Amino acid sequence: MKISSKLLNKTDFTKAEIVELLNADGDSCSKLFAVADEIKREYIGSKVYFRGLIEFSNICSKDCFYCGIRKSNTNVHRYNLSDNEILDAARFAYENNYGSLVLQSGEIGNDQFAGRIENLLKKIKALSDDKLGITLSVGEQPRDVYKRWFDAGAHRYLLRIETSIRQLYRRLHPDGHSFENRLKCLKTLQDIGYQTGTGVMIGLPHQTVEDLADDLLFMQSFNIDMAGMGPYLEHEETPLYAHNDVLWPIEKRFSMALKMIAVLRIMMKDINIASATALQAIDPLGREKGVKVGANVIMPNITPGMYRNDYSLYQNKPCTDEEPAQCRGCLDARLALADSDIGYGEWGDSKHYFRRMKK
Ligand code: SAH
Ligand code: SF4
Repeated sequence: MKISSKLLNKTDFTKAEIVELLNADGDSCSKLFAVADEIKREYIGSKVYFRGLIEFSNICSKDCFYCGIRKSNTNVHRYNLSDNEILDAARFAYENNYGSLVLQSGEIGNDQFAGRIENLLKKIKALSDDKLGITLSVGEQPRDVYKRWFDAGAHRYLLRIETSIRQLYRRLHPDGHSFENRLKCLKTLQDIGYQTGTGVMIGLPHQTVEDLADDLLFMQSFNIDMAGMGPYLEHEETPLYAHNDVLWPIEKRFSMALKMIAVLRIMMKDINIASATALQAIDPLGREKGVKVGANVIMPNITPGMYRNDYSLYQNKPCTDEEPAQCRGCLDARLALADSDIGYGEWGDSKHYFRRMKK
């Protein structure tokens, strides 16, 4: 398939065509990136929106084989921010005009947790005069909990499917973790009215380019509003570390992640795509590179600095020794390099969501 501006209006790709795009290198790869950038500017503009990321707790009841904060990793120092610490971070996001924030943590499924989040959502709405947009990313929950949180003011939810290939999902999780339930949760979120985001890890052991093409087709057929995809990064205190012998080199995981962003932008022209922090763990300018090839959302970390080292999903997470205020100056400068304006104070909602809801 010729990579050209003809892709500007095309959305229906076969799996073989997607594989071809994901395998692009040299000049074809540069062309792919340029087309994705052009599509982004034409369909949703050149602004980048911030979501201040609060990683409020690393306590998790699950045991995903790839994740550094999985329940069975006894080397992790567990923390749980106090409500005041979370509200201070939210105030920081509001005062610095970030527009939105993301509350993320390990997965806890009990009433106390559900009530705490509900209460925090209401307080964050109040302290920001309803002006801060709020995304949640706290895993699989029952429908009534998702609904309570929606009613309390959360309007976006991120729940990565991790991989759309069932067999691979099985290999990445212990018994009791269920692909079907994750899928069901995503459907419920859409049904309740959330702007619904999902995504995958790229370069997982035993994952193929064909699998990644299927992942993109999955996101398209699921009609998602937002995506967050990043390279898989190994953590030596996890079971998946034993599979490092079949890992793609880090450069390949990085470039494949950029190509995944670019191809998804071409396939789903008006969704929001986040440039994952994991990109920055590989290349200091990784997230800005994501923005140049189709991403339009960045999630600056606003977790208080002293906790950051303990939220180690993977090793070499960037900026773990910085405080929120340092991150902002740094990002302004870098995004200017990526020829982008920042949508300060704006929610930057997914345009796709509103089109989907109208139908
Ligand atoms: N507990 C929630 C949210 C926190 S984890 C959940 O799992 O949905 C957020 C994301 O971190 C996960 O969806 C996963 O895609 C990513 N992640 C975990 N371990 C990772 C690793 N080793 N490399 C790259 N991303 C990882
Ligand atoms: Fe817990 Fe999320 Fe890590 Fe899985 S990926 S172990 S649910 S924090």
